[in-house]
Amino acid sequence: MRARRARRPRADALFRALVLSSDPDAVVVGSGPNGLSAAIALARSGASVLVLEGRPDVGGGTRTAECTLPGFLHDVCSGCHPMGVLSPFFRSLPLEEHGLRWVRPHASVAHPLDDQPAVLMRRSIDATAGALGPDGESYRSLVGPFVRDATGLLADVLGPLRWPSHPLRMLRFGLIGLRSAAALARARFRGDRARALFAGCAAHSILPLERAATAALGLLFCVTAHAEDWPVAAGGSAAIARALASLLGTLGGRVETDRWVRRLEDLPPARVYLFDTDPAQLADVASPVLPPAYVRRLRRFRYGPGVFKLDWALDGPIPWRDPAILEASTVHLGGTLDEIAASEAAVWRGEIGERPYVLLCQQSLFDRSRAPEGKETGYAYCHVPSGSTRDLTGVVERQVERFAPEFRDRILARRAMNAADFERYNPAYVGGAITGGVADLSQLFTRPVARLDPYATPHPRLFLCSASTPPGGGVHGMCGYHAAKSALRRMAGLPRAALTDDARPA
Ligand SMILES: Cc1cc2nc3c(=O)[nH]c(=O)nc-3n(C[C@H](O)[C@H](O)[C@H](O)COP(=O)(O)OP(=O)(O)OC[C@H]3O[C@@H](n4cnc5c(N)ncnc54)[C@H](O)[C@@H]3O)c2cc1C
Repeated sequence: MRARRARRPRADALFRALVLSSDPDAVVVGSGPNGLSAAIALARSGASVLVLEGRPDVGGGTRTAECTLPGFLHDVCSGCHPMGVLSPFFRSLPLEEHGLRWVRPHASVAHPLDDQPAVLMRRSIDATAGALGPDGESYRSLVGPFVRDATGLLADVLGPLRWPSHPLRMLRFGLIGLRSAAALARARFRGDRARALFAGCAAHSILPLERAATAALGLLFCVTAHAEDWPVAAGGSAAIARALASLLGTLGGRVETDRWVRRLEDLPPARVYLFDTDPAQLADVASPVLPPAYVRRLRRFRYGPGVFKLDWALDGPIPWRDPAILEASTVHLGGTLDEIAASEAAVWRGEIGERPYVLLCQQSLFDRSRAPEGKETGYAYCHVPSGSTRDLTGVVERQVERFAPEFRDRILARRAMNAADFERYNPAYVGGAITGGVADLSQLFTRPVARLDPYATPHPRLFLCSASTPPGGGVHGMCGYHAAKSALRRMAGLPRAALTDDARPA
């Protein structure tokens, strides 16, 4: 008895040493593309990293599921990856060695219009401009100067506000991009075709097209299409998450699934914590250690509209009136600039029009692993007011049938998800908002709040690394990469300790 008592302090010390040495330098909450990218950037710099994911599988917005019929693989969230294939961070990683293969379509975008051939956005600017009638030259002069060094432009744009590597190019981009998409398209183009094409790209912003700076996103998406064909990931978008997680494993990083973080006590001791979540969850979990004023600012973050999405198992390709549409991975359905602008404005008034702007992907046409022989998958969503539970199956399918009569005869099965379903699926999609929050001028670079380093919080060990930080939504990992750089700058002097040990700052 005496001997046991004498040994206990040494045993405790050994136990503590073992536990402490297995405590990571960094904990990342959430395994979306930004969480995994942050973890990789940290691990590449020698930090030990633990990723805690609430769901049973990794991936966030890069997940794939057999959710209609056996043998049909559907991308639950992201479907097409212009930002992924061009992401400066992803391009620095050996993701192909970890199973990621981009499958490129023949055209990035098809934009059908009533009673005329669809507009096709092809890699070649000339081929695209050639189909824009009187606006070919205008289109060429708008996008051409930025396509020459698209990767340089993306490196400048996909990050926090800072001094650009090419100030003149950035100035030119900014002067054009600061306008509203609708004003720019009306001023630059005379015909419906170029105006509609630009509107379809700008509507990815999920903003009214009359809003300042929506031209920037329209221009950026046009530029990406001439730098790369908007690819899909072979086997489904989940292949991106699998590749990132596999690479992280080779760098010594660990991922634990089924680990929801809802309070500080759910976090193991570490030097730093990076949240791949929405700002509201960071506020909920960390309010005991964050200044109340900062928590209030996090809670004021605006998320914007949600989405309603359909996945279809199809008995063959979509029977487009213009078969050229089958060449594109992404189809923008919504008709003219005026129609698309009206549809996006309605969503911001809390309404849903009968002819919404619909974003459709046809992945299986290019990646045969997605559907059984002779069958196809279809994926489409439209923007809806935040938290909407309306079933828009009929509305979306009628918009497809407008350009593909008898489309519904091809449907073998469907799965619908409304905005509320999306929030249940991933609490970071607040109200069904899919890109981390409103990306308007007042929140694009100041997300989640205006700070010199938007990834850092007033607490030296807490960071946000999700799409609610610059550069915002999309599968590119750049938010995670920049957040990791911010954390690495601070990490060296910090102790490994539980966050609960930290007193609330005065
Ligand atoms: C329907 C839809 C279509 C889209 N289409 C495209 C597209 O075609 N191309 C494109 O580039 N982008 C697209 N996006 C956007 C893209 O998916 C997101 O911008 C991107 O996934 C954001 O990455 P993230 O790492 O910041 O967060 P997320 O991908 O949202 O990942 C967050 C992760 O954190 C986990 N998590 C959240 N809270 C907690 C918690 N408290 N504890 C533990 N884990 C938690 C979640 O389960 C999730 O795995 C789409 C999104 C949706 C929903």
